Amino acid sequence: MSLIVKKFGGSSVADAPGILRVAGIIADDYSEGHELVVVLSAQGDTTDDLTAKAAEINQSPSRREMDMLLATGELASAALMAMALEKLGLPVISLSGQQAGIRTSSDHGSARIEKIDCERIRGELDKRRIVIVAGFQGVCRNGDVTTLGRGGSDTTAVALAAALRADRCQKYTDEDGVYTADPRKVPGALRLSEITYDEMMELASLGAQVLNNRSVQMAKRYGVELEVLTSFERKPGTIVKEVTNMEKIKISGVAKDTNAARIAVMGLRDEPGIAFRVFRVLSNAKIVVDIILQSIGREGTKDISFTVARSDLDSAVSALDAQREALGFSELDVSDSVAKVSIVGAGMMSASGVATMMFEALYDAKVNISMISTSEIKISVLVDEADADRAVAAIHRRFFED
Ligand code: ADP
Ligand code: ASP
Ligand code: MG
Repeated sequence: MSLIVKKFGGSSVADAPGILRVAGIIADDYSEGHELVVVLSAQGDTTDDLTAKAAEINQSPSRREMDMLLATGELASAALMAMALEKLGLPVISLSGQQAGIRTSSDHGSARIEKIDCERIRGELDKRRIVIVAGFQGVCRNGDVTTLGRGGSDTTAVALAAALRADRCQKYTDEDGVYTADPRKVPGALRLSEITYDEMMELASLGAQVLNNRSVQMAKRYGVELEVLTSFERKPGTIVKEVTNMEKIKISGVAKDTNAARIAVMGLRDEPGIAFRVFRVLSNAKIVVDIILQSIGREGTKDISFTVARSDLDSAVSALDAQREALGFSELDVSDSVAKVSIVGAGMMSASGVATMMFEALYDAKVNISMISTSEIKISVLVDEADADRAVAAIHRRFFED
């Protein structure tokens, strides 16, 4: 008998037939004698729909009330799934995040899980019940409902698997695993049988939403082996773990992130302390900076360019503009139609020529690169958003289809 945490995403439980199909998967595992904790997302586009509904009433609602609203999406899924299992004659109980003992920080909209009190879940499992938990939510110290941020149900599942010391954590989605690129955009994308936590973390934070980035970080920290599989067919998926047998493969995926904007601070004085002062302005405004590029000084001046999340662009520009005199730059050049295209792979650490292959693919596709950044296991380039899909396809072809 194993303790298994299973998470089903919004597309898997989008409608009544979806809920009944997923109930069938749960029933099969239960009949094999496993203890089951099932984490659910809101149905289909419910979270987006609720967000739109809120905007019809108030353009800037408090984050506390948004959490009250958005948490209902996952609650509805959990109750409906419990009803589907009741109909199959199985012992089941649905729990809200709070009832499941998920304690979080009080950052509404992006709360962090601080602790999970497992007594209630354990008690229900001891009664041989299937436990359905509403994903994406918890409760903070003052008793208010919180949510974990978009895609947060993945984090709920991994956190529960870690806290309950589950034998397995399975994320069911609409694709049958993790692919070398988004299979919806790149028809030739290949399914990976396994991938390391580090690679998956990079892919997730560079735009592959198949797993939420924070959930992979948590899986790595607590050594929770994750499986990504489809709820539409019964077949094994992709295993995410510490080491894989795939070191021979240079790269494991290509990702695209369109949540990027570029700012160039032009005509700064070429002297010590300038970069520090520019980035201090941004960090004081709580803006996270991604790729940074500084030009070589010429005639006593230099330019510093960097990227930020698109949602932070306006606040970054106003923070810098407010310090124009003190920083002494001549102009800000801004673009919000850029995208970051990245390749990720643990194998590139020991391989040469990976960057050359990537840049050659971009050259062949006539895509201009405006910035480059690298780490041990990834290379990212900034391109025009209009070129991004072509860039992904060309790079994918070069590494995986040639
Ligand atoms: P869920 O609601 O189940 O969490 P998401 O829609 O958040 O599902 O994530 C699944 C989607 O992620 C897939 O439909 C796919 O289009 C997209 N995706 C992006 N990159 C990848 C990749 N490398 N491998 C698999 N899926 C990917
Ligand atoms: N329903 C939430 C969202 O769409 C959480 C999740 O599905 O993971 O972001
Ligand atoms: Mg998701």
